[in-house]
Amino acid sequence: MTAEHNKQERRVLVLARVARDADLTGELLEKAGFPCVSCHDSTELSLELGRGSGLVVLAEEALDQPSFDRLVVQLSQQPRWSDVPFVVLTSGGHTTGPGRRRAESLERLGHVTLLERPVRTSTLMSAVRAAWRSRQRQYEVRDYLADRERAEQALMEQANRLARANADLEQFAYVTSHDLQEPLRSIASFAQMLARNYRGRLDADADEFIRYITSGVERMHAVIEDLLAYSRLVHQPAAPFQPVSLENAVNWARENLRRSIEDSGATICCRNLPVIEGDRVELVALFQNLLSNAIKYRQEQVPLKVEIRGERTDGEWVISVADNGIGFEPGYADKIFELFRRLHGRDIPGTGLGLTICKKVVERHGGRIWAESKGGGHGSTFHFTLPSLHE
Ligand code: ADP
Repeated sequence: MTAEHNKQERRVLVLARVARDADLTGELLEKAGFPCVSCHDSTELSLELGRGSGLVVLAEEALDQPSFDRLVVQLSQQPRWSDVPFVVLTSGGHTTGPGRRRAESLERLGHVTLLERPVRTSTLMSAVRAAWRSRQRQYEVRDYLADRERAEQALMEQANRLARANADLEQFAYVTSHDLQEPLRSIASFAQMLARNYRGRLDADADEFIRYITSGVERMHAVIEDLLAYSRLVHQPAAPFQPVSLENAVNWARENLRRSIEDSGATICCRNLPVIEGDRVELVALFQNLLSNAIKYRQEQVPLKVEIRGERTDGEWVISVADNGIGFEPGYADKIFELFRRLHGRDIPGTGLGLTICKKVVERHGGRIWAESKGGGHGSTFHFTLPSLHE
């Protein structure tokens, strides 16, 4: 804030009926270190008030009723933090009826100190100092509010930048994964032709290299498929929700995973699953991801059991999918929902996107998802909430 600005904020505006009174008061105040402006009439007072002032010293009789009303209107338009203090010199007699009414009417100026004449210099100066202290507090509140507004503005801009960057990144993921499909398809078909036509006709190394190409292409294909599924969830608005039986959704998921369920010999049981409002396709994908993870992360020697159960709490359902697989380190319970986060190494196939997709689906349905495990062979449980149908 500039020195000039500071001076403006400290100014005492004086309006007296008789110019001599104003000059005398002005001199007194200047001596005490307050820059003073003597106003000749209410128009000038109103103009100076608009430019900023610390307080106003006013002789009661210096304002006629219309000017007084205009001043009250002007004061009502002050910013929220501001309440310009007025020190008003009155002619006294406030105990009488008309005098009391006059005093009450003066209160409409807001922050008013009435001094009955004859006023002693020390009384005037003490009232002016008290008014100035209160005005300083108001300036502090103003500066605090301005700081807060600046901080909020900066925070909002940062959040907007972040949201824009996220949207760009998601768009980028969609476009690249979409555009990668075509070249990948041609690599896959030429690798297949190589394998078909040249297996055993080149040396052993060549056969191995062809296998690497084919499995690399398969992995890349899986990542692109998952990335596209994720991008669709992010970009496409949700379809209108319909009542969906979660038991049916699980059955669809089981059907889609029939081969791997049979190969693993998994037992899957459902208990107390509700009908909720949702998108059937997305909910099938949710269960399919969780079940296929239970199958992938099972223990070699332990027959896999998966239990899917629902429990109704206040206004929502908590669905739990519990397996008796290899589990994961409890410290990673939040991290596994992040994009591409994998804990168990490359021997188990995967893209690190399945749980990110689950999280998006659950959030689109107004729920939360979290996971629990005690690690080392103790299985894992994935919980998610969904709003219940009948409130
Ligand atoms: P991925 O394609 O690797 O399975 P996900 O996003 O589905 O990707 O899962 C992220 C990671 O979380 C997995 O790589 C695995 O380490 C861990 N995980 C997921 N489900 C289970 C589970 N049922 N049991 C143990 N670990 C799991």
